[in-house]
Amino acid sequence: MADEYDYDLFTIGAGSGGVRASRVAAAHGARVAVAEEYRVGGTCVIRGCVPKKMLVYGAHFAEDLVDAQHFGWTIEGKRFDWAALRDHVQNDVTRLEGLYGQTLGNHNVTIFAERATITGPHEITLASGKTVTAKTILVATGARPLVPTFPGSEHVITSNEAFHLEQLPRRILIAGGGYIANEFAGIFNEFGCKVTIANRSDTILRSYDASLRDRLLQISMVKGIGFLFNTEFESIEKQADGTLLVRLSGQEPCEYDAVMVATGRIPNTEGLGLETVGVELGKKGEILVDAFSKTSVDHIYAVGDVTDRVQLTPVAIREGQAFADSVFGPGEPYAVDHSCVPSAVFSHPPIAAVGMTESEARNTLGNIKVFQSDFRPMKNVVAGRNERSLYKMIVDAANDRIVGIHMIGPEAPEIMQAAAIAVKARLTKADFDATVAIHPTMAEELVLFK
Ligand code: NDP
Repeated sequence: MADEYDYDLFTIGAGSGGVRASRVAAAHGARVAVAEEYRVGGTCVIRGCVPKKMLVYGAHFAEDLVDAQHFGWTIEGKRFDWAALRDHVQNDVTRLEGLYGQTLGNHNVTIFAERATITGPHEITLASGKTVTAKTILVATGARPLVPTFPGSEHVITSNEAFHLEQLPRRILIAGGGYIANEFAGIFNEFGCKVTIANRSDTILRSYDASLRDRLLQISMVKGIGFLFNTEFESIEKQADGTLLVRLSGQEPCEYDAVMVATGRIPNTEGLGLETVGVELGKKGEILVDAFSKTSVDHIYAVGDVTDRVQLTPVAIREGQAFADSVFGPGEPYAVDHSCVPSAVFSHPPIAAVGMTESEARNTLGNIKVFQSDFRPMKNVVAGRNERSLYKMIVDAANDRIVGIHMIGPEAPEIMQAAAIAVKARLTKADFDATVAIHPTMAEELVLFK
């Protein structure tokens, strides 16, 4: 390791990718420092996946407590306290932030709790004015919500603020039809808010299989969530009583207590000094990298959402790990395989998917077989809840290989994690058929497709 520099690795951003890369590089013997201007843990831990999932759990009790009566339970005086849930979630976020900091400390990674900017090929300047040098620089600064600009757009919130609301809005408009819009629509709806989703296009969750999208839309509407499609913001006007008068194209003006925007996330690349050292950016401002996460500058790398490859935490973690192993480890450099990445939407009910959708498979492979199970989970039957699950398996007709699995229903993400191994391992429909079912489960539908 070169002693002419203060550090072997300087990481900007202590989120999922940055923390993994820093501690693995340090474990390989590198002298590592990381700068974080907000809180160690990044989007996933501080204001994303983790606190969101806790809210999803909290929200689901609304249905569970109703269903419990069909299973013989009498629940008197039930009441929901948003502030209690919000504060419990935030306390746990703080606990996790501490653990992430500890992990870095245990690996002798120096943490600078301040903003860092690249000011020379190997030079980083911290907000305090301190300047350090590093042989290798890793940019792992993540992404932030994209907020469209229109008259009154200063009145909107994003998912960042949703975790800290003083009180729940009685009526909330959520703009966007993607992951965040559908997850928070489910959360707020379960808490009793009147939720409306407004999207610019005529669909939700564009990248998911059409049958699952339709099913979520239908179930969400039955639960009381409103949908407005092909519409865009014209203006938001804050009224004297604090309510927001929202004008959307093609719609009557409507009052809401809060407007949340979930229209995608943009990479955090401004003001980092990337241009001073010649790091190339793409159209969305994302850092362009090769398969080994290397930028256009030989000793500068980037991982995670800032590269806008697959904006998912486990992918950022893998990219961080691969970078650290490849640059600082004893073995051969290796690249992350971005194919066949399973994903989930923690809506009510959740969606999970891996591989090709039916239409992608038809377009790519031509001759496919589609197996489908449309069923009402046993628990829903007893609960008198008319909510059906849908599982789909897409098979390449040429060789019986499973190229996609798509599910909507209770615990779909939990079930999918195991099923995704089979798809990644290129197993066939016959392999699933040969596996004995576990009865009675929902997951058994995967081995009983006819
Ligand atoms: P998504 O990319 O999922 O969805 C964005 C939505 O906003 C789409 O409906 C899109 O419309 C619409 N949109 C995009 N750009 C604009 C624009 N300029 N003006 C108006 N509408 C627009 O973004 P999210 O914000 O929901 O989430 C960001 C990312 O975070 C996700 O892509 C995902 O990678 C990650 N994430 C993952 C989660 C998980 O794994 N469970 C949970 C939350 C986030 P259209 O219909 O035209 O596509």
